[in-house]
Amino acid sequence: MPPLDYLIDLHLPAERQGPGSEADTLRALSFVDIAGQKGLRIADIGCGSGSQTRTLARALDGQITAVDLFPAFLARLDEEARQAGLAHKIQTLAASMDDLPFEAESLDLIWSEGAIYNMGFEAGLQAWRQFLKPGGYLAVSEITWLTPTRPAEIQAFWEGEYPEIALASTKIQQLEAHGYALRGYFVLSPASWLETYYQPMEARFEAFLEKHGQAEAARQVVAEHRAEIALYRQYQDCYSYGFYVAQKV
Ligand code: SAH
Repeated sequence: MPPLDYLIDLHLPAERQGPGSEADTLRALSFVDIAGQKGLRIADIGCGSGSQTRTLARALDGQITAVDLFPAFLARLDEEARQAGLAHKIQTLAASMDDLPFEAESLDLIWSEGAIYNMGFEAGLQAWRQFLKPGGYLAVSEITWLTPTRPAEIQAFWEGEYPEIALASTKIQQLEAHGYALRGYFVLSPASWLETYYQPMEARFEAFLEKHGQAEAARQVVAEHRAEIALYRQYQDCYSYGFYVAQKV
């Protein structure tokens, strides 16, 4: 099995594939002043198994296209949407976020939790803007420094993982430079990392390793995640996900 398949298999049964919670999704939505309109067209990019997609489907009137690169997540999303009675509001689409098939000015709202880093924050802002109608909204969560300086260990870790990590002031300037106006911003709490993401993941590690017969690639995936979690526990004051809600201007 290729290493990527172990990664997908570890994350597939999770409620969320990244930090975040239903309360965070709804808080971000509270900054979207078109949220009460009827017949909205929405894309949820890097949706994973779609916990936030279902929250959006319950909260909004309209159609959501849930996009992910990996069909295994979308199959689970389809099944869960069906069970929740939300299938009529959600269509899944296997596509890469840097090559989306939407028409120009066709979307009211682009949502993306814990995923834009896959193409890079700035590249994503630029590439996706054309799909928004005038006055449409973008809501993205993005890894963000919370302190102006950081201990060398965590600085080096994140610069290796994702060199675009920056302060919110930088991210907001990027939004403004690319034709958006900030309408809301908040920082995900430690509970949104630990209770909905890291702790449930830790609880799956042993069964995951057993399932894969302690294969080297499986042990490596677990070791990398354990290291990331340990760093988070040590340095959580220095970084989090920022949730940025912005309007196309
Ligand atoms: N939004 C979900 C998942 C976040 S994890 C949540 O918050 O729980 C990031 C997601 O991005 C994963 O589901 C991964 O499969 C997806 N992804 C990674 N690269 C991608 C790409 N190039 N295009 C679309 N989705 C991608």
